[in-house]
Amino acid sequence: MSQEFRDDRILVAGEWRKGRGAPIASRFAAEDVENTVLTGASEADVDDAVARAAQAQADPAWQMLKAHERAAHLYRIAEGIAADIERIAWVQSRDTSKTLTETRALATSAAATFRYFGAVLETSDEVLTVPRGDYQTTSVHDPLGVVAAITPWNSPIASDAQKVAPALAAGNAVVLKPASWSPLVSLELARIIEEAGLPAGLFSVLPGSGRAVGNRLVAHPDIAKVSFTGGTATGRHLAKAAAEKLMPVALELGGKSPTIVFADCDTDLAIAGILFGIFSSSGQSCIAGSRLFVQRAIYDSFVPRLVAATRALRLGHPFEPSTQVSSLVHPDHRSEVEGYVAAGIAEGGRVLTGGARPGDADLARGAYYAPTILEGLDNASRICREEIFGPVLVVMPFEDEADVIAQANDNSYGLACGIWSRDYPKSWRIGRAIRAGTVWINTYKQFSIATPFGGDGDSGIGREKGRAGLRAYQRQKSVYTDLSGRPHPWARWPADG
Ligand code: NAP
Repeated sequence: MSQEFRDDRILVAGEWRKGRGAPIASRFAAEDVENTVLTGASEADVDDAVARAAQAQADPAWQMLKAHERAAHLYRIAEGIAADIERIAWVQSRDTSKTLTETRALATSAAATFRYFGAVLETSDEVLTVPRGDYQTTSVHDPLGVVAAITPWNSPIASDAQKVAPALAAGNAVVLKPASWSPLVSLELARIIEEAGLPAGLFSVLPGSGRAVGNRLVAHPDIAKVSFTGGTATGRHLAKAAAEKLMPVALELGGKSPTIVFADCDTDLAIAGILFGIFSSSGQSCIAGSRLFVQRAIYDSFVPRLVAATRALRLGHPFEPSTQVSSLVHPDHRSEVEGYVAAGIAEGGRVLTGGARPGDADLARGAYYAPTILEGLDNASRICREEIFGPVLVVMPFEDEADVIAQANDNSYGLACGIWSRDYPKSWRIGRAIRAGTVWINTYKQFSIATPFGGDGDSGIGREKGRAGLRAYQRQKSVYTDLSGRPHPWARWPADG
């Protein structure tokens, strides 16, 4: 695939320029090579970007667009992404070491997100509410102003699109800060958005550290909302900063999602779904099904089959079409994953498969880690409580419905849950009883942009996607218009009236 990296400039305040902050190096962890070095944004770049964004956002040329005219911008961006899938996929795979199969799908979903929110915008009605007097009451929606979007490294183009598309559709300007490990694809999005003709200044991309660029963005007085996807500790920090400003904040955070296998399930369906749920994206997924509860009646027959299926997964280079499990994003992240597995073993866990770097000489340079299954651990163990964000599954037995509901809910996160059973009413009951933003029954890790997504507890605040995803970037306003033409009687004015 012959592609090249672009130069080191970033899009600040409507122009491509060298950032004035610390350089940001992008690495291809699968081969342990440097991709390129960008100039990172500085706090002064944040101030420039926000000032220009505020100006562009308030410009009547943007504010006065009719819904269908603003939607046309989103459709053009969607077309631009769709026309450039291979480039976006390549850049993203080099940045994150995800397989090309996956990054192509992420790019395709990003195009769909822009298309969807264009359509939502065009088809959203304002409401005429029921009056209780001689007036007309309308509930309308205004943009917030300048929105800061802060995204993680694991699915950058998809997370970017899920924030940028509804925020622009709602009439805002957006300043996007991508993760330092994956800055490149957000700049590709910037180029596409610019080529699609969005007015200059409405969109900036500021790669830079969370501490400098992220903190400045959140504290900036002209940022009206922060939409964040990332870790729970960072989310908590941002929520405190937002509280100081009484600024709305949306938080899509981590997870420790339970997958529940009942004795009456279709075991082949369940095994395939479990593998995909924990080991696709090398487990670097917020919704990874990392705690597996198997009903005791089938535990001894099910677990060995799951282990055999895991051993058959194909580890390999992200550009190899047959690869199912690729390198982790960074060697430092692999060290964290290794630390968790060591902690699990120290707490009495037995490694059923994996638990080490692959022995394959071809993979020795990359940050690979073998898909790993442990058993013998309690749900209260550290690796069952904390998010690992790697290809590590802990399997535990359960007795009955009440037992598994109690164990699954005994965790601070509440992002997702998988249920495998042929008994639909039981699956429904369990799904309703589990604290999770998304429940999958006899499937896992499926997404529709039309279906709201988000978490509870340590997994976050708010929902993205769906028609209401547009409203998350607007403020509601009620307008009362008098229809009587009569002065208010309380005033007794005019006196002779
Ligand atoms: P992270 O360390 O929290 O970083 C996320 C973003 O926040 C990055 O852009 C990071 O910048 C920035 N940041 C860090 N400190 C900041 C600060 N003080 N102020 C403002 N911004 C700051 O998370 P990550 O390691 O990139 O991503 C993995 C996490 O994301 C996992 O917990 C995963 O579950 C979660 N996630 C959640 C969802 C969801 O939808 N619920 C989806 C995907 C991922 P730097 O890169 O420069 O540090």
